Amino acid sequence: MNELMMIPLIARIRSIREVTFDTLMFEVAIEKDGKEVPFSYLPGQFAELSVFGVGESPISITSTCTRPGLVEFAVREVGLVTEAMHNMRPGDNMGIRGPLGNGFPVDEMKGKDILFIAGGIGLAPLRGLINYVLDNRSDFGAVDIIYGARAPNLLCFDWEFDTWKAAPDTRVHLTIDAPAAGWNGSVGFVPAIVKELALPPGNRLAVACGPPIMIKYVLEDLAAAGYRDEDVITTLEMKMKCGVGKCGRCNIGAKYICVDGPVFRLSELKTIPSEY
Ligand SMILES: Cc1cc2nc3c(=O)[nH]c(=O)nc-3n(C[C@H](O)[C@H](O)[C@H](O)COP(=O)(O)OP(=O)(O)OC[C@H]3O[C@@H](n4cnc5c(N)ncnc54)[C@H](O)[C@@H]3O)c2cc1C
Repeated sequence: MNELMMIPLIARIRSIREVTFDTLMFEVAIEKDGKEVPFSYLPGQFAELSVFGVGESPISITSTCTRPGLVEFAVREVGLVTEAMHNMRPGDNMGIRGPLGNGFPVDEMKGKDILFIAGGIGLAPLRGLINYVLDNRSDFGAVDIIYGARAPNLLCFDWEFDTWKAAPDTRVHLTIDAPAAGWNGSVGFVPAIVKELALPPGNRLAVACGPPIMIKYVLEDLAAAGYRDEDVITTLEMKMKCGVGKCGRCNIGAKYICVDGPVFRLSELKTIPSEY
């Protein structure tokens, strides 16, 4: 465990972008002793971001390590710490510990077709992985991205969709829960789109991230479609505190979600007393 995991560095906010009405994306430079320092991470890792005097929250890294420089975090305002973050401005400092967690098994994913399945802000950890895959396009097979939200204005990172659609052998399937004025795309829950598209398992890995109810049905549908548990990857968002496997707030059985996860294959999840 290195010092970055225990002692916060400074994350200086360079810019803030609105993702949806309740979610902001912070682009930060990492600093130590007043100097910008490099920050290396894998897709799917997270960091503990702190607002000094308020508290700390685990937040997924949504930028991709294939584009070094500023690091991006999308934060939905739900409570004390995230509200304080939303009150910050460019030039303000957060604390940052990380990168934390295991990240996606990108080397083992090479050569595979990838089906990304995301709901709502669940796209935040997947965005870094999607951009990693597209930046290393020849290492991966066909890419399909199924992404849904309750309404069009709740689709996160909409500025990415055209670029993703334009990538070779890549399809983006967007859906919203109910019809909305001006929306010409699919209407229906994410699991319904997974079923409708019926992409066969074959050489394909499915990577899912979203609200627990979406994950529950998606996992059932993938199993029914013949996906093996080892070919289904998901991330868990347990409540956690230290992020380094010390405090015991996020353990399930012998696993600490913060260090053994947050990314798990379904085959691994089934060996521990399970959420799903
Ligand atoms: C590995 C990991 C990655 C995450 N990535 C992101 C991200 O990229 N963007 C983002 O906006 N959020 C993310 N979260 C959730 C985020 O950590 C919580 O929303 C945040 O800590 C809430 O802090 P708060 O003080 O604002 O809210 P609190 O006042 O602590 O709680 C407000 C409400 O949020 C609920 N809540 C608190 N913590 C969590 C949690 N960990 N998961 C689910 N519900 C929670 C509480 O039960 C309560 O209902 C992630 C969580 C984990 C564990």
